[in-house]
Amino acid sequence: MLGAPSVSEELRSRVRASQISMVLRYTSWMMAANIANALAVVAVAWPGDNRWLALSWSVPVMAVASIVMFKLFLGDRRTPRTSASLNVIRRATTNALVMGALWAILPLGYVIASPQEKLVIICVSAGMLCGAGFALSTIPSAAITFVSSIALGIVVGLWFAPSVATTVISIMSVVYIGVIVTSSLTLARLLSDRILADINSTEQRDVIGLLLNDFEENASDWLWVVDKSFSITHVSARFGEITGHPEQHYMGRKIGDCLPLCDRQDLTEHEAAGLEALTRAMAARKPFRNCAIAVKLKERKHIWAISAKPVFDEKGSFAGYRGVGRDVTQEHESKAHIAYMARTDALTNLPNRALFRENIEHALARHHRHGENFAVLLLDLDHFKIINDTQGHPEGDRLLVEVAKRLMCEVRDIDTVARLGGDEFAIVLSAIERPQEAANLAESIARTITRPYMLTHSEAIIGVSIGIAVVPDDGLDADQLIRHADLALYRAKADGRGGYHFFETALDEAARRRHQLENDMRGGMERGEFELYFQPVVAADSRIVNGFEALMRWQHPALGQLSPAEFIPLAEETGFIKQLGAWAIRKACEVAITWPPHIRVAVNLSAVQFRTPGLFADVQKALAATGLAPDRLELEVTESLLLDTNSAVESTLLALRHLGVRLALDDFGTGYASLSYLRRFRFDKIKIDRSFVREIESDHECQAIVEMLIQLAGNLNMSLTAEGVETEGQLAVLLSRGCKEIQGFLISRPTTSATLFQFFEIEDQSRLLAAG
Ligand code: C2E
Ligand code: CA
Ligand code: CA
Repeated sequence: MLGAPSVSEELRSRVRASQISMVLRYTSWMMAANIANALAVVAVAWPGDNRWLALSWSVPVMAVASIVMFKLFLGDRRTPRTSASLNVIRRATTNALVMGALWAILPLGYVIASPQEKLVIICVSAGMLCGAGFALSTIPSAAITFVSSIALGIVVGLWFAPSVATTVISIMSVVYIGVIVTSSLTLARLLSDRILADINSTEQRDVIGLLLNDFEENASDWLWVVDKSFSITHVSARFGEITGHPEQHYMGRKIGDCLPLCDRQDLTEHEAAGLEALTRAMAARKPFRNCAIAVKLKERKHIWAISAKPVFDEKGSFAGYRGVGRDVTQEHESKAHIAYMARTDALTNLPNRALFRENIEHALARHHRHGENFAVLLLDLDHFKIINDTQGHPEGDRLLVEVAKRLMCEVRDIDTVARLGGDEFAIVLSAIERPQEAANLAESIARTITRPYMLTHSEAIIGVSIGIAVVPDDGLDADQLIRHADLALYRAKADGRGGYHFFETALDEAARRRHQLENDMRGGMERGEFELYFQPVVAADSRIVNGFEALMRWQHPALGQLSPAEFIPLAEETGFIKQLGAWAIRKACEVAITWPPHIRVAVNLSAVQFRTPGLFADVQKALAATGLAPDRLELEVTESLLLDTNSAVESTLLALRHLGVRLALDDFGTGYASLSYLRRFRFDKIKIDRSFVREIESDHECQAIVEMLIQLAGNLNMSLTAEGVETEGQLAVLLSRGCKEIQGFLISRPTTSATLFQFFEIEDQSRLLAAG
């Protein structure tokens, strides 16, 4: 490795060598001029008195010049030097001093010279001053020594013969020195600059050469060069190795014929684009970078990234391309794999939401191009969460994989089945003639999905709800189609699970209404638009009131009285249920404290309230603030709460029970695997859903179930209430089966708290009757 100091020493020695060689170029001429000038001086002086003086001066001059010439003649056989030590320069300077001293003697003879001799002395001295100064100029020290000596001789010589002319000549000699010294110094600097640049560029060439060699021998990349007719003039051996031909095989062939390109029909969009970009760039003589082209090597597709720059000759006309190529197959494969992973659901290998959206975009493009209609179906599994929670996630996953398989069997190759997440699936049904085709598919899917699933330890049955949006009627952009299919799905679910629904504009209306209610809710609460109604719960035989169930109403300023069935789910979705529920508990306690002390109040709680912290505190605060005895408060929860395996739910229930409030299981019989929950948690009461009561007169099975539940409740030491009793006939059957407590329109619809006094009166009358 060349260190910086030695570089500058090497540089200096090289600079010196070329200084010397420049001087040596003129030296023989210069020496010849020395001899000729000395002879001229002798010739002019010969006729006069100064003949011997001239001769004795000229002999040493000619002798020195001859020796120098002789040495030079010998030196010519040596190879030119590439470096020169400082001594060489010193020697040259000494030589210049010797010659300069000899020539300085000549003008000293000016005083004694004849006019003719004077002329020759001035001419020859000036000539030597300028000529030698020029010849030596690349070695400033030599040039300066030489011209200073002569100039000194001139000035001193003319000093003894003062006149206007000699003064002028003396001044001019000094000016000449100045000119020669400055130009000599400048020349020397230019010379060293040029040599430095030379050295640098040679070094750079060496390094690039080394790198290229290394590259050609070791790298996986290869270099290629083509001429202006795109025929190969150079290609790395590496290219030959990859393609299985020696590199000579390619010399002179057109580059287009040398690339083992894949057939057009085997190219992906991206690969076709790469080839096109490369062809286009080459046709335009433009540089290009990393154009990915697909080639076939040993029956396998490889991807090459090609980069190149056009080359232009001195006249600026195109002279070919110089470039590199690289096999990037592996990089491409891993990139493609990552892209695939990002667009695929890992569990089912179905496209995910992102790819599903892309597929809708593609279908929309086909619609615009060919008028092809299609449908978007969004699917939501019913009861999946229960299986996931009760059987464990691995079983849930197995079920989802099976659902994915069944869905794939339902569609054609041109359709897309995607999993959007959780238990949501989606389908793009391509190329349909009528919306009915989507309905047919939905029906067929519903049949397939509801077939039992074999899990590890059990069999499971699930349902599916489907929302459908059809192009072009239901939208012409992906987001809108998904939104509309989603609204249809929402509707399908609300209609009772297991069905499908097409999007219709009324759904949009309903969605807008939901949206409005969500927005109005908080303000409505502040404005006191919410109210509790109460429905009596009475003894089945005596119809004596045991308590009241608090049922919420919303007096909406624009939409009138709204049912909790409409706004409670919204409040649950937005989380507003926390405030709303706390308010209901508090309000119910406030009202109940005004009733006779044995009358209870029942408040409905939503499962969401259990999942948000603070429920227990709300209950505790309401009781403390109103002074209501805890056992007069009954909290109604539904089975869906118990599906939640979350232990926080269970501990809240236990804490509430500990506080002394009563717990009732509401809507019993509508849920899933109901009986098992009764064992898991002890309730004070179960409330049989009104769907059983509705059928009880006509349906014997219903009667049997109700009878069994009544017995079961008795055995488990729970009370039981039959809900939704509307007719005397229903009441009679319930009574005959041993039902103790009922609730329903037969007794009373829910009413405002202000009208409840009538029930107390009836109760008092009944009591009196019973006592009598
Ligand atoms: P639910 O707890 O099952 O309440 C009984 C529902 O049945 C009430 O509907 C009531 O008006 C109705 N009903 C009572 N007797 C009869 C009858 O003989 N025939 C018929 N057809 N219906 C009868 P409502 O008031 O519309 O409440 C609907 C649901 O909203 C309630 O069902 C309850 O789940 C929920 N809800 C009501 N208030 C609240 C509340 O404050 N908090 C929570 N989380 N949910 C509430
Ligand atoms: Ca209830
Ligand atoms: Ca109920």
